[in-house]
Amino acid sequence: MSKRLKKSKTNNNQFLRVPRGMHDILPTEELWWDRVNKVVRDVAGFYNFHFIETPILEFANLFARTTGEETDIVQKEMYTLRMKKGELLALRPEGTPSVARAYLQHHLGRISQPQKLFYIGPMFRHENPQAGRYRQFHQFGFEILGGTNDPIYDAQVIIILWRIIEYLKIKGVALKVNSVGCKVCRPLYKRQLQNYYKSLEKSLCSDCKRRLKTNPLRLLDCKNSGCIEFKKDAPNLLDRLCASCSAHLKGVLEYLDELGIAYSLDNYLVRGLDYYNKTVFEFFVEEMEGGAVGGGGRYDYLMEILGGRLMPAVGAAAGIERLVEVMKKQGVKFVSKAPKRVFLIHVGELAKKKSLKLIEELREAGILTLESLGKESLRHQLRAADKEGVDLVLIIGQKEIFEGNVILRDMKNRLQETVSLAKVVEEIKKKFKGN
Ligand code: AMP
Repeated sequence: MSKRLKKSKTNNNQFLRVPRGMHDILPTEELWWDRVNKVVRDVAGFYNFHFIETPILEFANLFARTTGEETDIVQKEMYTLRMKKGELLALRPEGTPSVARAYLQHHLGRISQPQKLFYIGPMFRHENPQAGRYRQFHQFGFEILGGTNDPIYDAQVIIILWRIIEYLKIKGVALKVNSVGCKVCRPLYKRQLQNYYKSLEKSLCSDCKRRLKTNPLRLLDCKNSGCIEFKKDAPNLLDRLCASCSAHLKGVLEYLDELGIAYSLDNYLVRGLDYYNKTVFEFFVEEMEGGAVGGGGRYDYLMEILGGRLMPAVGAAAGIERLVEVMKKQGVKFVSKAPKRVFLIHVGELAKKKSLKLIEELREAGILTLESLGKESLRHQLRAADKEGVDLVLIIGQKEIFEGNVILRDMKNRLQETVSLAKVVEEIKKKFKGN
């Protein structure tokens, strides 16, 4: 055992549990996760977004430079790994910086403008685990990179999240929208915010005392109950936006109005990441008290921060665990049109040998076939077929093999008939069509 492992503080049987904040996604969850994945992919296809997969490990500096040195994510929540050569890598805490990095590294802008990309995958944040807050969780995200900074793109990523939530049959969604301004209007606002909070400095939490100096906008994002109280009298940026930011916000809201998408303006919505400018938004559902189910915004300066040229960009991301949790709490039911299936039962050694070949024939013919080849008793196999809720059961025993037949049992009316093995595929297809 290596020295590092010997020194590891885990006690003997601790590895039999997942680490704190991590969780398994069990087969019982399959239906929900499949549904989210399918809806995301369908919507992405409809709006012409292309899939991108970036590595889970990136250089830690990528997130420090983009997500923001002063954000909780980078300051406290990033899982980092020191490589032998001294490089510091991080388990990605979010998807946008990686997508932007890949865009620059592979010159994706040369393919077409704008690039519309989407991703689905695990993210890692060393947060305090609680309901709806994990240390490993899954996000899907949509990014529009390049092109122009037309507010129609902001509206489009909002609509995409809205549609996904709607197709997941989640009710009672509240969309909050704000503008965090730009390099022109934000500096003055920041100073006004600093002045307001300076008089309250003694009563601020330790994080906010630091934010007051380094990143005053983040004061509005503090979750500490004492600091939240101060927010309501803080100056708001909406009244202080420059003409360009005002017009942009107006444009986004007009598109949302046009589509009948309900929203409310939230002057103090700033979001936990540093790179946003102009539009920011978040989706909330009552059943998820711990936070938003999704959100996003415009990030026109991010490419420049990474060494590229100034380039308009806007994106949105949502958390799959939270969406699944809300669907469960709201009792969402999916009427799934499950494909018809057969279950093959064998009786005796000879039949068992023949079964494998028959299963392959059925699969080749596109007939979904289940079996429990490890079980020998007819009763056990019938019970397994019942549990699976299949449409037809095929029973093959010694007698059937000698006669070149198979018994076909319709599980709906429990009627059975004997059909020739040579014609069984044809017979099953006929029955599936007729039902
Ligand atoms: P963010 O990248 O912080 O804007 O988060 C986007 C979405 O990811 C949130 O609205 C949540 O649905 C989800 N999310 C963020 N952090 C967590 C977490 N620690 N656990 C579960 N879901 C999360």
